Amino acid sequence: MKPAPFAYARARSVDEAVALLGEKDAKLLAGGQSLIASLNMRLSAPALLIDINGIGGLDGIARNGDMVEIGALTRHAAAERSDVIAQHAPLIARAMPHIGHVAIRSRGTLGGSIAFADPAAELPACLLALNGEVEVSGPKGKRTIKADDFFKGLFETALGAQDVLTAIRVPAATKETRVGFAELARRHGDYAMVGLAASAKVDGKNLKDVRLAFFGVGATPVRAKKAEAALASGDVEAAVKALDLDPPDDVQATSAAKKHLAGVLLRRVAKQLMEARP
Ligand SMILES: Cc1cc2nc3c(=O)[nH]c(=O)nc-3n(C[C@H](O)[C@H](O)[C@H](O)COP(=O)(O)OP(=O)(O)OC[C@H]3O[C@@H](n4cnc5c(N)ncnc54)[C@H](O)[C@@H]3O)c2cc1C
Repeated sequence: MKPAPFAYARARSVDEAVALLGEKDAKLLAGGQSLIASLNMRLSAPALLIDINGIGGLDGIARNGDMVEIGALTRHAAAERSDVIAQHAPLIARAMPHIGHVAIRSRGTLGGSIAFADPAAELPACLLALNGEVEVSGPKGKRTIKADDFFKGLFETALGAQDVLTAIRVPAATKETRVGFAELARRHGDYAMVGLAASAKVDGKNLKDVRLAFFGVGATPVRAKKAEAALASGDVEAAVKALDLDPPDDVQATSAAKKHLAGVLLRRVAKQLMEARP
C-alpha cells in the first residue's frame, strides 16, 4: 500500500506550523502511527504533510501547581516511564500499557492520540474522566478547551483546520483522588471492544465527583452520568442498572455484547475506585 503523492514541510515553530496549515489540504504529522496508516490505505490524501517533530519544547511532562502538563509531542513510551505521571496522573499511568504495542508507543504521541480522537482509544477517555483540558494554538493565538467540550463526533474535535494542539493538562492527583481503569480487547494491544476510565474523590466512606468515561461504545468517549450519581451513593449494582449507553454494533462486538461488557467493567472499576490508594 502506498500513499497518494504529498509535499512535505518540517515546521520549526508552532507559529510556522499554524501558518503552513493555512495551505490547502495540509495535515500535521506527529508520531505518524495513525496518520501514515490512513495515508497508506488512502483513507486520507493531504496535499501537504507538516512534520512537527522538530519543534522544540513540545515534549515535556511537568507538575505545574495543581495541574500536570504534558507536551503534545510527548511519546506514549515517555509517559509510561514518567515518575511525574505515575505519581500525579495515575489514571494515565494505568492506561498507557494498553495502547498498542511497544513500537507504537515509542513513536506515537499523546497530542496525536487526543487530536485523532479515535472513539476506542484510551487517552481521550482518560482526559474526559480526569476533567482535563488541552491547550491549542491557532491563527488567533492560544486558547484552552475543556475535555467536556473537545470531543464532538467520530474523529471530530473542537480543533479548527489551522489549530495545533500543544499541551494536555489534567488535575494532579491528591490524597482524596481515586482512579480506575479497565478494558476488554481481543488481544493485548488491540483497540478495546469496550473500555472504562474513571476518577473520583473520597468523601468519608463515599465517593464524590465521580466521572466515568467509557470508550469503544459510541462516536466519542461517553460519560455515564446516571451511573456516576448511583456510584457516588455507594450502590454498584444500581450504577450498573443506570448505565444508559447505546453502543452501535461494530466489527468487534454487537451492541448487546458491548452493553453487557460495560457492566462487567463498571463492577471492576468501582472496586478500584473504592480501594485505599490512588
Ligand atoms: C497497530 C496499531 C495499534 C494501535 N493501537 C492503539 C490502541 O490500542 N490505543 C490507542 O489509543 N491508539 C492505538 N494506536 C494509535 C497510536 O496510539 C497513535 O500513536 C495515536 O493514535 C496517534 O498519535 P500519533 O502521534 O502517531 O499521531 P499521527 O498519526 O501523526 O496523527 C494523527 C492525527 O492527529 C493529527 N495531529 C497529530 N498531532 C497533532 C497536534 N499536536 N495538533 C493537532 N493535530 C495533531 C494529525 O494531523 C493526524 O490527523 C495504534 C496504532 C497502530 C499502528
